[in-house]
Amino acid sequence: MTLEFTDRVERVSPSATLAISNQASALESEGIDVVDLSVGEPDFDTPENIKDAARTALAAGETGYTPSPGIPELREAIAEKLRADGLDHSAEEVMVTPGGKQALYEVFQTLVDGGDEVALVDPAWVSYEAMTKLAGGSLTRVDTTPYGFRLEPALDDLQTTVSDETELLVVNSPGNPHGMVYTDDALRGVRDLAVEHDITVISDEIYQRVIYDGREMTSLGSLPGMGDRTVTLNGFSKAYAMTGWRLGYFAGPAELVEQAGTVHGHSVSCATNFVQHAGVEALRNTDETVTEMTAAFERRRDMLVAELADRGVEVPTPEGAFYLMLPVDDDDQAWCETAIGEAHVATVPGSAFGTPGYARISYANSTERLKEALDRLDERGLLGAGA
Ligand code: PMP
Ligand code: GLU
Repeated sequence: MTLEFTDRVERVSPSATLAISNQASALESEGIDVVDLSVGEPDFDTPENIKDAARTALAAGETGYTPSPGIPELREAIAEKLRADGLDHSAEEVMVTPGGKQALYEVFQTLVDGGDEVALVDPAWVSYEAMTKLAGGSLTRVDTTPYGFRLEPALDDLQTTVSDETELLVVNSPGNPHGMVYTDDALRGVRDLAVEHDITVISDEIYQRVIYDGREMTSLGSLPGMGDRTVTLNGFSKAYAMTGWRLGYFAGPAELVEQAGTVHGHSVSCATNFVQHAGVEALRNTDETVTEMTAAFERRRDMLVAELADRGVEVPTPEGAFYLMLPVDDDDQAWCETAIGEAHVATVPGSAFGTPGYARISYANSTERLKEALDRLDERGLLGAGA
């Protein structure tokens, strides 16, 4: 029998982040010691009080379906958290999803039709492009690489990139794969363009709690004029080391949440019941642990930037998230293949994020392993642009 696949799936390729992480796991299962700096996943275990909340919920029999958009306690806890960020959303304007990725997928499916234009700021996380293509949309992109991944100097470029044809703009700060935190001026620039061209903006704030140097970030939807045109996306994976639990959410205008609810209901029904109870605990009682984990990421960032400088490699210093863009060969794909094949160091090619000539390092790994990775790359002459 010949299987005929849809145009939709043929338009997209597998997630590069997950593909390389799978390749690293396959090498490890052959007994090869790989330093895996590919997938963006905290190397900490989930805080104990969050696990306890899940155990308690399980023991209490919280194992059935929940209301499709999430349990009321969690939607209320999220609305409360958003209010603290200056966003005015009721619990009904919050959708709880199995992971932030699913939240994004639902928003794309609800807002982007065949031929609609989606604007991305490069380098951009791999799945925005795939989700646009799955929805049948077309892409327009602005590149911040010449500006050290800062958005503010790229606002003029963004001005010429977006138009009345643009349906959706995605911004992500702190950003994956570069770790930059957008300034308030940059966000105000985004606001002005969004209002001028009547664009809906997804503000992906999944790395909101992983932010360094005492910086504070502004939530885009809190800016005047953005309340009814921003979809705020967040999740529990990164802040609370809960990647495998699959819990995330989005908040936006009531109408959008209602429409997206149809996609949600027909695709996942609801997020896992006891996991949602654990989510309430995470939001209410985990501040100290989050601060400790972020401090550890910050120390590793400092170490990595300093070690690279010692080895003659200057990089834009990440201000948050746990990623760093390493300038490599023009053919970043080939560089990453050599890095994993010969040095047994797994990284993700910048071209997967729309930025060739770089490799993304996820430094959610121990200081020893990070140094080991640098030693291995250095020994093989793989450090430095044009290496
Ligand atoms: N947005 C960005 C920028 C990410 O890096 C990730 C990483 N997985 C997600 C959304 C989705 O994360 P999750 O589905 O684990 O919540
Ligand atoms: N967001 C993480 C990353 O960029 C996890 C993998 C994924 O979901 O793509 O590595």
